[in-house]
Amino acid sequence: MKQAYDCLVIGAGPAGAVAARELAERGGRRVLVLERRNHVGGNTYDRFDAHGVLIHQYGPHIFHTNSLRVYEYLSRFTAWRPYEHQVVASIPEGEGRLEYPVPFNLVSLRRAFPPEDARRLEEKLTAAYGREKKVTILELRRNPDPEISALADYVYDHVFVRYTMKQWGQTPEEIDPNTTARVPVFLSEDCRYFQDEYQGMPLEGYTPLFQRMLDHPNITVELGADAGRRMRLENGAVLLDGEAFGGTVIYTGAADELFGCQFGRLPYRTLDFVFEAHPADFWQSHGTVNYTMDQDYTRITEFKYLTGQELPGVTTIAKEFSRAYTGAADEVPYYAVISPENNALYARYRAEADRYPDFHLLGRLAEYKYYNMDAIAARALELCDDLLK
Ligand code: FAD
Ligand code: UDP
Repeated sequence: MKQAYDCLVIGAGPAGAVAARELAERGGRRVLVLERRNHVGGNTYDRFDAHGVLIHQYGPHIFHTNSLRVYEYLSRFTAWRPYEHQVVASIPEGEGRLEYPVPFNLVSLRRAFPPEDARRLEEKLTAAYGREKKVTILELRRNPDPEISALADYVYDHVFVRYTMKQWGQTPEEIDPNTTARVPVFLSEDCRYFQDEYQGMPLEGYTPLFQRMLDHPNITVELGADAGRRMRLENGAVLLDGEAFGGTVIYTGAADELFGCQFGRLPYRTLDFVFEAHPADFWQSHGTVNYTMDQDYTRITEFKYLTGQELPGVTTIAKEFSRAYTGAADEVPYYAVISPENNALYARYRAEADRYPDFHLLGRLAEYKYYNMDAIAARALELCDDLLK
């Protein structure tokens, strides 16, 4: 019997959606997308809550990229709301709290130190590294100048060490250095969280964006469809609903799950989001406030700042609590815990996947990487460039 589909895509998140659209549109392939959740968009999924506030169910997502290709590609499926994210650290001080920008920058420096000290430190820092330069906290701590080193210790203590312990259960020295390098000390007055050329929020949200992307005559999306129950990998062959499947398979789920975690579980961090609605237009000072010194949660995001939604008298916030992922059914593996040991374990799963012809691991889970949305979209486009050559 002739196969109904040329390609099978597992997961309707950003990776799966871009790949499905490319294969369907550019390649003219008939694509079946299996998504275990009851919605598309993966972790970018947004929806209106009971109070009518547009929230991000799996954590705050802000689009930013330097890739014109990615920006133009996504712009086919959405208009944008101009938005440049700003984050502050909230630090207990006396009876009250002090807030200053994160990444720690020259504005933060002036808020944290008396004017004369701030001026001297600014001169030293800019002489050592240059204006508008970014320096990672680990690099700054290696500076031999005692005053710079004392400042580095201050930033380490007030911004990094406790937040990182909450987020990863490890110190900044113990985790992959690329992780803290995402939030370097910035010798600038630029208080934006990202400096990318293209930044914004999809005007009507991420869910409509990915719904439009997947809306194509060659694409069939099945929701509530766990690939674990539909697809089997056996002796170098892919079986879909019990029949041999000869087409392209793109898998965007967790690599260990694909093989029943036979070599052991890949470590991930999961998050618990606690949503709260408040009877106010706005509840906090910025889109995201990081609790870098106290509290059990890492950060609080107030969605109306991000989405620009005009809804007087009510606002919804989300507190993020991080913990180790155990594999329980109600947990989501959000962050790969990148380390040489875990990467080696991942390589064993990848080697298993490589035994299957035309079978591709793509995405944050499947590649066990700390990808932002734009990097995922770029990866999906590149993979399809290769597949459609
Ligand atoms: P996912 O979005 O995880 O999608 C994978 C999909 O596959 C899911 O829908 C899942 O249900 C499905 N799936 C898995 N296994 C199976 C299976 N066996 N069968 C069927 N379906 C399956 N990036 C940014 O650029 N900006 C941000 O501000 C940002 N904020 C973030 C905040 C948080 C808290 C987190 C965790 C991530 C954030 N990211 C952000 C990263 C962004 O979420 C990812 O880059 C993006 O979601 C990756 O897309 P993906 O398709 O690889 O994975
Ligand atoms: N980080 C920190 N304090 C902060 C912000 C970030 O220690 O106020 C560290 C922490 O280890 C975090 C990493 O920098 O996991 C990356 O931060 P980012 O905001 O990029 O994380 P994400 O938004 O991806 O969770």
